[in-house]
Amino acid sequence: MSEKYYRHTVIDVDLEAVDENYRMIQNLHPDKTFIAVVKANAYGLGSVTVADYLAARGVGFFAVATLDEAIELRMHGIREKVLVLGAVPPEDINKAIQHRIAVTAPNLEWLYEACSSMDGRYDKEVWIHIKVNSGMNRLGTSDIGEISRMIEEIDNNEHFIYEGIYSHFSSADIDSDVNAREYDEFKRITGAVKRPRYVHIQNSAGALRVKDDYCNAIRVGISLYGYYTSGYIESISEVKLKPSVMLSTKVTDMHTLSEGEGVSYGLTHRAQGREKIATLPIGYADGLLRRQTGYEVRLEDGTNCPITGRVCMDSAMISVPESAEIGDRVIIIDPERESEQSMENYSVYSETISYESLTILSRRIPRIYRGEKAGFVHNEVLK
Ligand SMILES: *Cc1c(COP(=O)(O)O)cnc(C)c1O
Repeated sequence: MSEKYYRHTVIDVDLEAVDENYRMIQNLHPDKTFIAVVKANAYGLGSVTVADYLAARGVGFFAVATLDEAIELRMHGIREKVLVLGAVPPEDINKAIQHRIAVTAPNLEWLYEACSSMDGRYDKEVWIHIKVNSGMNRLGTSDIGEISRMIEEIDNNEHFIYEGIYSHFSSADIDSDVNAREYDEFKRITGAVKRPRYVHIQNSAGALRVKDDYCNAIRVGISLYGYYTSGYIESISEVKLKPSVMLSTKVTDMHTLSEGEGVSYGLTHRAQGREKIATLPIGYADGLLRRQTGYEVRLEDGTNCPITGRVCMDSAMISVPESAEIGDRVIIIDPERESEQSMENYSVYSETISYESLTILSRRIPRIYRGEKAGFVHNEVLK
């Protein structure tokens, strides 16, 4: 962890907001196990730091997408339960056993493969969560006979523990009956087989919209970080989530154009008259998409300034008022939900969603952690 960085583009991560979101969502489901989803580097916030912070505040269960991500948590001292939501190659089952990671079994064939790959090097058990396909057709099976045989296979193997059964909603953020139908399908399938310790289907949107207690765990990702999956979920939600991410930078250079002069590659933007252009040290290699041309960032005095011309790999230019100066701070993503630079507006502008906007913020941008017992910097590049 390096405390140093040498460019003014930074992501402020409000860990206290993450903790508040955790508490608010847990309060909606006081009896369910909270599984904090910290895959994709905790949606760009930093998985080790987020997991560490939450573990100290009561979260005892984390989920990631890959075995590598799970091992990363272990190598940085996270000792809580970790489940891999993706399909680990069955031949790598021994690595999961070594690091005490729970894995997902998507079908019977995977189990047979995992079983025959066990080399007995680690005389420990491995926790298995069976994945049910309730309509999304991504991972898992809907065949009750197959699931019954999987449970038998697990029960007959002294190293396997049947710990969970789960599925994933395809349309939890949409106002339709698809969600209820998938939930019914999940109940039909799981109701026909032995019930393990953990039964779970709710992601963020599912946890915010479904209050039923058939399941005893929830898997929360995006809303832990303060974002609703859709306007619909925001409109029906009982909790006011607190966005945790701010992306800001500072002006590094300034040019005054006269009429007809252009800006950036291809000179696609032309000055209509005298125009002041400021250069920001952030580009598409940081996660600011080329499609963000035209998006308005905010100067500290409150002026909104559009990104003009093409976004470059390492910089972007904005059109600013005469009063702007080198060194001025610029807000690109604001943690205020009502701000014109909110995550929602930022994402809609480039026709994407907060999940993508967050996870493409690259390792080049240092993360500055705020909150109780925080106030430190993580710069992945100089780590
Ligand atoms: C990513 C993921 C989640 C978390 O989804 P959010 O919408 O971010 O809450 C839960 N379950 C599975 C299987 C996932 O892949």
